[in-house]
Amino acid sequence: MNIASRLNRIKEDLPANVRLVAVSKFQEIPDIREAYRAGQRLFGESRVQELLAKYEHLPKDVEWHFIGHLQVNKVKYIVPLVAMLHSADSIKLLNELEHHAAKSGRRLKVLLQVHIAQEEAKFGFSFEEVEDFVNNKMPECYPHLIIAGLMGMATLTDDESQVCKEFSGLSALFTRLKEGYFSGNEDFKELSMGMSDDYPLAVEAGSTLVRIGTKIFGDRKQPFYGSDT
Ligand SMILES: *Cc1c(COP(=O)(O)O)cnc(C)c1O
Repeated sequence: MNIASRLNRIKEDLPANVRLVAVSKFQEIPDIREAYRAGQRLFGESRVQELLAKYEHLPKDVEWHFIGHLQVNKVKYIVPLVAMLHSADSIKLLNELEHHAAKSGRRLKVLLQVHIAQEEAKFGFSFEEVEDFVNNKMPECYPHLIIAGLMGMATLTDDESQVCKEFSGLSALFTRLKEGYFSGNEDFKELSMGMSDDYPLAVEAGSTLVRIGTKIFGDRKQPFYGSDT
């Protein structure tokens, strides 16, 4: 099956309120173009150098989402280019994003990344940190950021009940915030969860943005744009 058919098959199965982020990291330009020709406009990248190169090579109506861990010193490169950052994983990063969004004269949509997997926390806020963040009215400190929702990655495991538990937990936190601190705030509406191997479970649990790479493009290729994270 080619890229266009795989893309369409996935899209047909998604409920109307769930958007597909085609994760194009480590995929080659002609393959990304094929997805673009099939109608896909929303793409996800996780490395700064790679995003900059691809931004140059692809049509300007592509909506780029940054989904990987972002180093504070690279914020300035991506703020002008991306429509949304899924991976706001520290206060330090939020502060830097605010600074550069203000400088670019724009408001940037960001999702708070929450650590939900069993594996040792690499990146992301804990549930308690997210609750503290809103209880302390921290979103008001970021006038140039639109806190648009939450993002999480489940444990890499075949144990579906574990994955379900993690997605439901994040979904419950999302609902709590949406009906609490963010009630009446129409911007807080995205729940980014689900990848190639677990997105049906994520959709079931209430995901609004699934991030799918290999199931569309096949295995990732070599990092020919340099590795920077
Ligand atoms: C790579 C990546 C994905 C996509 O993974 P696949 O298994 O290829 O679908 C989704 N989310 C994040 C944050 C990623 O880094």
